[in-house]
Amino acid sequence: MQQLSFKLFQKKYLTHDVYELTFTTPEKINVEPGQYVLFILPKSKLRRAYSIGYTDGQTFTFIIKQIEWGAGSTEICSTEVGEELVGMVPLGHFVLKENTTPKLFIGTGTGFAPLYFQIRAMMDSGIETPLMYIFGVRTTSDIFYIDELNRMKEVYPSFDYRIYLSQEDSENTTRGRVTDFLTKENVSAYGEFYICGSPAMVKDARERLEASGIEKEKVFFEQY
Ligand SMILES: Cc1cc2nc3c(=O)[nH]c(=O)nc-3n(C[C@H](O)[C@H](O)[C@H](O)COP(=O)(O)OP(=O)(O)OC[C@H]3O[C@@H](n4cnc5c(N)ncnc54)[C@H](O)[C@@H]3O)c2cc1C
Repeated sequence: MQQLSFKLFQKKYLTHDVYELTFTTPEKINVEPGQYVLFILPKSKLRRAYSIGYTDGQTFTFIIKQIEWGAGSTEICSTEVGEELVGMVPLGHFVLKENTTPKLFIGTGTGFAPLYFQIRAMMDSGIETPLMYIFGVRTTSDIFYIDELNRMKEVYPSFDYRIYLSQEDSENTTRGRVTDFLTKENVSAYGEFYICGSPAMVKDARERLEASGIEKEKVFFEQY
């Protein structure tokens, strides 16, 4: 683990409260898909963890929800292009197993960040195996990266995704929770499970996988 300077290179709005922040670092570092950076925020001195959404080792993308009254997320989302933050990296054990085992990814909101990096890493590795992403948000206004998910489906035919909306009915989505997908029949095609989202969702998903006969050793998770 090392302390590095992260310079904001690009800032995009993905939804009404989710930002994509892309930083560059002065040197290239090795991180594993699923790991995170612990930022030390300059004004408040708060320490906040953010999963790496994608990196080539020197350009780092994060997907961050600005939480109402959330001091850390508001500060990091207020960073201007050109400003620098200090971050400790790499951290975390929620890492991808790069193998041919079919994988199911389950994420809600910005829990997509580490899963996106893991799915992209599988695609970049050239290993061809079924990958399924189950993406949960509240309403259509909370969906992001839809064009990117469709592009991924095109370039990697064994990738697919489903969107679950907990508070709205809409075309091409399912009304309900991501955990509704976790029936014995649906999960039987996969050998590894990567979950990221709120503690309540992660707990529910793990319980449903266990009830479907999935061994605990095959389930990996991060919660925030
Ligand atoms: C390993 C790890 C990786 C993480 N990666 C990401 C990431 O990629 N993207 C990201 O957006 N966040 C991520 N987080 C969460 C992040 O670290 C902060 O906890 C989050 O940004 C809230 O910090 P805050 O200072 O704004 O809110 P705080 O001031 O700490 O909390 C303000 C209020 O918001 C509530 N709250 C906290 N988190 C949430 C939430 N997610 N939704 C709704 N209410 C909440 C708190 O309970 C509290 O009441 C990660 C956390 C961990 C531990």
